[in-house]
Amino acid sequence: MIDSTKSIATCKDTLVWDAHAGVFPDSNINLNLLDHWHDHGVNYVSINVGFDVMDWDQTLKTLAAYRNWLLANSNKFIVAGSVKEIADAKANGKLAVSFDIEGMNALNGDINMIGLYHGLGVRQMLFAYNLNNKTAGGCHDKDIGLTPFGFDVVHEMNRVGLIVDCSHASYSTTMDIMHVSDKPVVFSHSNPDTIWPHERNISDDQIKACAKTDGVIGINGMGIFLGNNNSSNNTLLRHIDYLAELVETRHIGLGFDYSPKVDIDIGEILKSRPDFWPAGNGYDTPDIQHAAPSQLMDLSTTLQKHGYSDKDIQGIMGENFKRVATACWGS
Ligand SMILES: [Zn+2]
Repeated sequence: MIDSTKSIATCKDTLVWDAHAGVFPDSNINLNLLDHWHDHGVNYVSINVGFDVMDWDQTLKTLAAYRNWLLANSNKFIVAGSVKEIADAKANGKLAVSFDIEGMNALNGDINMIGLYHGLGVRQMLFAYNLNNKTAGGCHDKDIGLTPFGFDVVHEMNRVGLIVDCSHASYSTTMDIMHVSDKPVVFSHSNPDTIWPHERNISDDQIKACAKTDGVIGINGMGIFLGNNNSSNNTLLRHIDYLAELVETRHIGLGFDYSPKVDIDIGEILKSRPDFWPAGNGYDTPDIQHAAPSQLMDLSTTLQKHGYSDKDIQGIMGENFKRVATACWGS
């Protein structure tokens, strides 16, 4: 039984997997902020090195800077390419990190970039960042499916060993991806739209299609996607309960989209690009609340109190995403 009186970090049977951090991708960011995950007992986190808002070469620049920083700080962190390396990092008290990219503009139209990114430590890619691009549709844009190039991208990601991630994409694009992928598909950081209607959230159809691929939906910790800017564990529980009822706990994980404060004025950036972050979606909410890794121990206790079994909790905390990674990354 999970001992809720201890930190989740000390529960050696519980793997803690955060499928997506919301750190703003920039080569000047000081990754000391990863201490927040390390110190709260997270074993693995995926951090994004780019998104469609930036030019593709900025993604490479950020990836180069993050890799070098992590390699220089190997006393606490590792760049993990496999599930085995994540297990080793956990055993050694280190935080395993890999990279994701939010949107296929990072390919610059070249399918060969997928293998290159994989070689540099990227293990998860999203198809669009809110707006349509040459590969796919975004969730804040006209609903389009995958383009012919987008179908090739899914096949290449399956072949190379990247997790196919549907967060931020349009409804039709996600349904195309889940239909064509021969590996499990995830929504790394998206919540059920029935609990809190938002274009970034996902419908029952999408949730069921994801489960059918044996994929996982990561609960997003941002208050504006959870409901009424409330990121308490009771709000997280409402979303988890709903998913558990609809598709079983084996398809639930965590992708908190969390970032500690950074030296960049994110509010100004959001305001300067109303195309990517359109008005009426709560992006201008003052003091957006955010579930953080520091809540994880209490979340585990909350789930226990509400009747979730140890196996359910371990699945939600990390084993479910680990199962997908094993299937997608290979050994
Ligand atoms: Zn995101």
